[in-house]
Amino acid sequence: MSPTPARSDRSPLMSLDEAVSRLVEGARAHAITDTEMVSTFDALNRVLAEEVRSHLNVPPEDNTEMDGYALRVADVPAAGAVLAVSQRVPAGQVGQPLQPGTAARVFTGAQIPAGADAVVMQELCEALPPERDGEIGRVRVQAVPSVGQAIRRRGEDVQQGAVVLRPGMRMTPQAMGMAASVGAGQLRVCRRPRVALFSTGDELAMPGEPLKPGAIYNSNRFTLRGLLQAAGCDAIDLGIVPDLLDATRDALRRAAAQADLVLTCGGVSVGDEDHLRPALQAVGRLDLWSIAIKPGKPLAFGAVRRADGGESLYIGLPGNPVSSTVTFLVAVMPVLRVLCGAAPEGPKPIAMTAGFDWPKPNARREFLRARMAADGRLELYPNQGSGVLTSMVWADGLIDNPGGRPIARGDTVSFLPLGLLLQ
Ligand code: AMP
Ligand code: MG
Repeated sequence: MSPTPARSDRSPLMSLDEAVSRLVEGARAHAITDTEMVSTFDALNRVLAEEVRSHLNVPPEDNTEMDGYALRVADVPAAGAVLAVSQRVPAGQVGQPLQPGTAARVFTGAQIPAGADAVVMQELCEALPPERDGEIGRVRVQAVPSVGQAIRRRGEDVQQGAVVLRPGMRMTPQAMGMAASVGAGQLRVCRRPRVALFSTGDELAMPGEPLKPGAIYNSNRFTLRGLLQAAGCDAIDLGIVPDLLDATRDALRRAAAQADLVLTCGGVSVGDEDHLRPALQAVGRLDLWSIAIKPGKPLAFGAVRRADGGESLYIGLPGNPVSSTVTFLVAVMPVLRVLCGAAPEGPKPIAMTAGFDWPKPNARREFLRARMAADGRLELYPNQGSGVLTSMVWADGLIDNPGGRPIARGDTVSFLPLGLLLQ
């Protein structure tokens, strides 16, 4: 990242891809190399620093998928065959080798006794009383089984030695379960990125405070803090900073002293009340970009010098609530991934069918708030305004629409589910 002169709002628009590649390039120099071991219990949303390899087969041995009878297929040539039941194997116990002509009563998850090659579910069996010593009962098998039926094979989920989770992956609940299933109780993860966050704007009040004339509640503080937490960051919340140059400069210094990344919202346009640009110029450096996206557009990127001689990354998001949320998802998430040593790209968009018409697209690339309707098509939130937070709550995701492209019902569009954007 090289210091370049600030741009004005009238400078040519920069593509999102170009902006993201510059952000990512700047972030690479700040990639976090510290890792830590965490309990798999506490690994949600953390980014793996090491692969997880399985030292065992999962399942460890063949086991039954159902409650029923384990037997040899050769012993049931026709429906109605009757076998002696020689043993009872609940889950967690290991039975004896199965003698020919006998069956074992088994319960879901029980290991298959050696010699058995199928399980017949109990609904297809009739339990009969014992007839001889040494039998615990008899069973009439009502259907001819096939080899392997209702048996979960040793290693069918995971083979011993296989890599089950890769470094750079953000831990989901499923991934936590996967790690546990191969016996990994501790995981090596990247230290959480420390992100200091503040909002600017004299109009901002906090929920719980009375709303004075001209004021609005600070929603971005909540959204951005939540997004940071969902992305596995340590969010350092510095609250609201008034629209004053000194206060903004001080807040930037305080933020940088504690954080890998300083994130602000609002005040990055070039109005008289937008103090981030002069403040950043005093304590660091920045580029002010106009990004060719809607919602979004103004985005600031730079760095804040720290007293220790280092510097923290700086990203300034627009103030409008939908703009700041969308910009976080499409531009800040790649930076967070790179800080954690992962690849910048998120999951790929999904091709979906539009169930609406969008005849008058913006010239800028649009991120339209949409959701999946019952017919499998996407519907659009009627008000796509950059301040309409309702659209973000209503939506399942964003349609990534190239600038100037009208959409007609039935067209294929690129859809980014919100959950994928946060991975
Ligand atoms: P700005 O980027 O500061 O010019 O703000 C653009 C718009 O976003 C204005 O309408 C602000 O009132 C609004 N805004 C700025 N910050 C926030 C915030 N933290 N929460 C909700 N709205 C905000
Ligand atoms: Mg403002």
